[in-house]
Amino acid sequence: MQKEINETKKLKIAGVIDESIVDGPGIRYVVFVQGCPHRCEGCHNPQTHDFEGGAEADIEKILAEIDADPMISGVTFSGGEPFCQAQQLCELADQVKLRKKNLMIYSGYTYEQLTEMAKEDAGVKYLLETADRLIDGPFILAERDLELSFRGSRNQRYIDLAATRAAGKTGGEPILVDESWQIRK
Ligand code: SF4
Repeated sequence: MQKEINETKKLKIAGVIDESIVDGPGIRYVVFVQGCPHRCEGCHNPQTHDFEGGAEADIEKILAEIDADPMISGVTFSGGEPFCQAQQLCELADQVKLRKKNLMIYSGYTYEQLTEMAKEDAGVKYLLETADRLIDGPFILAERDLELSFRGSRNQRYIDLAATRAAGKTGGEPILVDESWQIRK
């Protein structure tokens, strides 16, 4: 599978939001990474597509902002395509988990594509082994549904990565959660 990547060692971001209630459950700090190969029709963040755009992230500043706000229950990596900078996100993912915050990642790749990528990309593997939740798949305009929480289109899935790992299913069938983040029976 062909994957565009940020060749620099530094994390490049389009920006951050320090308190969001629309990028996952609870009040979340959101990091929008720069660069996305998916080019979904109707994408809400087209300014994040260009791999040459954005700015180098100041990880220390991001962590200081997370530490300064006790309301933040979790951190979300959005984009852009976070898994195109998987290696660069590993340190931040580590620090988020050290702070006992839950970590959610959006990706235009499906979980199955990511598990394939993880066989050759240690950064992708690490993020799949570290994050708690994943919302996967591209935004599909024909499947857009404004009633959905946290998702743009019906094809995108809520995946409980932590539960998937705990069940020993990594690389197999992912465990899905419903709108209230309860595991689907
Ligand atoms: S994956 Fe996300 S950021 Fe990338 S084009 Fe699709 S909707 Fe936009």
